[in-house]
Formats: sequence, structure tokens, C-alpha cells
Amino acid sequence: PPRQRLLVVANRLPVSAVRRSEDSWSLEISAGGLVSALLGVKEFEARWIGWAGVNVPDEIGQKSLTKALAEKRCIPVFLDEEIVHQYYNGYCNNILWPLFHYLGLPQEDRLATTKSFQSQFAAYKKANQMFAEVVNGNYEEGDVVWCHDYHLMFLPECLKRHNSSMKVGWFLHTPFPSSEIHRTLPSRSELLKAVLAADLVGFHTYDYARHFVSACTRILGLEGTPEGVEDDQGRLTRVAAFPIGIDSERFVRALEVPQVQDHIKELKERFAGRKVMLGVDRLDMIKGIPQKILAFEKFLEENPKWCEKVVLLQIAVPTRTDVQEYQKLTSQVHEIVGRINGKFGSLTAVPIHHLDRSLDFHALCAVYAVTDVALVTSLRDGMNLVSYEFVACQDAKKGVLILSEFAGAAQSLGAGALLVNPWNITEVAASIGKALNMSDEEREKRHRLNFAHVTTHTAQEWAETFVSELNDTVVEAQLRI
Ligand code: UDP
Repeated sequence: PPRQRLLVVANRLPVSAVRRSEDSWSLEISAGGLVSALLGVKEFEARWIGWAGVNVPDEIGQKSLTKALAEKRCIPVFLDEEIVHQYYNGYCNNILWPLFHYLGLPQEDRLATTKSFQSQFAAYKKANQMFAEVVNGNYEEGDVVWCHDYHLMFLPECLKRHNSSMKVGWFLHTPFPSSEIHRTLPSRSELLKAVLAADLVGFHTYDYARHFVSACTRILGLEGTPEGVEDDQGRLTRVAAFPIGIDSERFVRALEVPQVQDHIKELKERFAGRKVMLGVDRLDMIKGIPQKILAFEKFLEENPKWCEKVVLLQIAVPTRTDVQEYQKLTSQVHEIVGRINGKFGSLTAVPIHHLDRSLDFHALCAVYAVTDVALVTSLRDGMNLVSYEFVACQDAKKGVLILSEFAGAAQSLGAGALLVNPWNITEVAASIGKALNMSDEEREKRHRLNFAHVTTHTAQEWAETFVSELNDTVVEAQLRI
């Protein structure tokens, strides 16, 4: 039988396009979590719909890019610069992202914010409608349409309005906040209603799903059931938790690559005689990087004998560098790192190696593999895949994971990791001590729990579960009528 077609709709295509001439393009696939998840799913034929990350105002460019992308099973949505500014930078990244991570709504200059809020929300709806039109133009009966993330909360409604028999799922990759937070959003009801048009709504954790259901009951006055949310006509939107995973085998295999093994050897020599602690984060407020570094400082202050025996590598991947708040965070982090290295460094060594850059996949695997203690101190984080990737690369070393209880991953790696409240610097400093001094038996026991989880709850399994649940949900809804 032909495989079921799956239309994956996300803001960004998993491909970066660079224009070479009027009608030629070079494409580079970016192997994020979602891509490797769906590459591993054999029973569906997946196609991607999304923005290619470039502004293509001319028809020749649009046609040639569409053709080039088709070979990668990708279908572009063309957004002009103004829409990208208002929808993506504005509504998505300035309003929804901070709100969903409990940072609140922007509050500078209230009048200006209100005005821009309205135009940004209008652009958000317009952009979602543009995605919907591309989906509609490529949809064939029986396809499953899987919408992703906070960029596309309006999409389920746009799709269902056009075709009520389309199978539509929506998955959120960030936290969904407490209904008390969601309440503050001026467009709170419209967004919830638009999401509820989907057949299945998924979150990383049970808590996020519960927050969503209570937002719907308290703000919209709808009925919450163990299955999901029911509207006045008795139509059910199924709501459930689907924790994402990683393609753990890809990491395990990478450690066998000769180039990675050479790099591991180099790093081991470079840090001989020292324990390696590691942080890998986009330089975002939600990652709690200052809190992590301050906890490390406190640990050094209280344990001077460790100063020459431990090093913290912090990979801080630059993100949204054009935004003032992110620039401020960068200088704040640099200032703290400089102060600590000045205080605890020697002529030959410093306790913190802070890098404002990303690493390629193989370099990242090597760094994960030589780490003794990984530190994830997110103040809020949908899941946090770095914690999973670290565990996948640690089967030889069996290092310790210190993990924020505010990362979705704490729900699944809580038994093996040392869970911390990143706001409690004293507690994090004490956990660093505990991790560095942990007995071999305890490290192995904790690692075994984490490793078993990461290798059995993979990204492939996540995608399969979501899509088959979506198919089942639609069948059940038809039986109910
Ligand atoms: N990553 C990377 N290069 C780097 C640092 C990180 O490719 O130098 C990847 C990392 O492997 C992980 C992702 O970026 O898959 C970060 O995902 P996570 O869920 O931890 O956080 P997010 O950035 O999505 O908030």
C-alpha cells in the first residue's frame, strides 16, 4: 500500500537557501531534532512546508527556489520583509516566546506597545493564513497535516475553516505557561480557539498540557475532560503529552568516527588533571547562563582546592544578536566570566572557557564525551535536548547531569540527574560539589537510568506516536458522530 503522506508545517524549512544567481540556489540541510526525527519514520512520506529564511521578491527567484526545494521534499512559503519583521521578530519572538517562558509581556512605553501589538498580531494572523494557503495548495485527501510550534497557533483554524475533514495536529515545542500567565495576553482567547480547531494538540510534558486545558476552561469557559477540551457542541479536541527525544544512535555512532576520536584524545590531553564541566546553550535569557556561572563562582569560593582542578566550558551560541536585550545579556555574561577568571585564574589557566560560537556536530559530540559534569540551568525550557545529547555521548565516561527542574527534560531524566532550582545559587553550588565528588557506583547507576531513557524514547518514536495518535483521534471522532 502507498505510505500515508505527512505534511509537516513549521515556520522554518529544515534547509537554508543561498541565492547563487537569478535562478540558481544552493541549499544546505540543517539536521535539527525535527528533521532527524522524521527521517527515521519509515511509514510516512513526509513533506515540509515552511519559510526558507530568505526574502525572494521576484517571480524568477520564487519559481527557481520552489523547484530546487522540491528535490528535498520542501515547499516554500514566501514572506516579505515587513511580514517577517512584524510576525516573526515581533509577535513570535518578542511576545509569545518571552510570555511562554514566564518572562511576561514587553512593558516599555505602553502606548507604543499596544499599537505595535495590534499590528504584530494582525501580521501573525496574515502569515498563518499564508502558510495555510500553501498547505491547501499541496494537500491531497487522506494526508496528515502536522503544524509545529508557537509561530503557527492560528494555522489549525485556517486549515479547518477551508476543509473541515483535514486531519490536523499541532505540537508546541516550548512550555505552555500557567493559565495565570496566558491570561495576560491581549489575544489570549483568539489564540486558544484557533489551536482548538486542531484534532490533536500535543505538548512535551503533562504539566504543559494541563496548563493549556486550564487556560481553555478558565478563559474560554469550555469543559476540560481527561481526554482534552470539549466545546459547546460536544466536539472534542484531544490534548496530550508527547515528550520529544533525540536520534540517540546518531550520537553513539558519531563517537566511533576517527576524526571525533582524535578530537576526544586532544581534549583529554588539553584538560588532563582537571574535571571538565560543560554548558551548551543558545545565549538566551531562558537558559539561566548568569545563574550557572554565579553558582560555579560560589562553588570555587567555598572549595578553593578545586580551583586548579576543574574547568567550566560554556558554549554560548549567539542568537537574535540584533536585539538589545540579547546584547545586554552577552555583555553581562562576559563581565561575570571576566571577573571570575580574574579572581580565580593563574598565569597558566583560567577556570571558565566561554565561547560565543556554535560547534559543528562532531566537535559537539567530542566535547560531550569528555565532560565529567554537564550543567543545564534553564529558567524555563520546553524540553532541552542538550541534556539528552550529553547522556547519549556518555556511555564510556558516565558523567553527571545537573538539570534544572524547569526544563521539560526534568520530567524524564529526573531519576538519573541531580535536579536543581537554578534560582537557588547555593543549591546549584552544592550540587556541583556533589557531582564532582560522586562515587563511581552512584554515577554509573544514575547514568544507566538516563541512558536507558534516552535510547528508548527517541525522536522517531515520538513522531510515530504523535501521528498515529492523530489518526486514531480522527477515527474516534467519526465514531462519536
Ligand atoms: N547545538 C549545535 N551546535 C552548538 C550548540 C548546540 O548544533 O554549538 C544544537 C544542539 O545539538 C541541540 C540544539 O542546538 O540539538 C539545542 O537544543 P535545545 O533543545 O537544548 O535548546 P534550544 O536551542 O532549542 O532552546
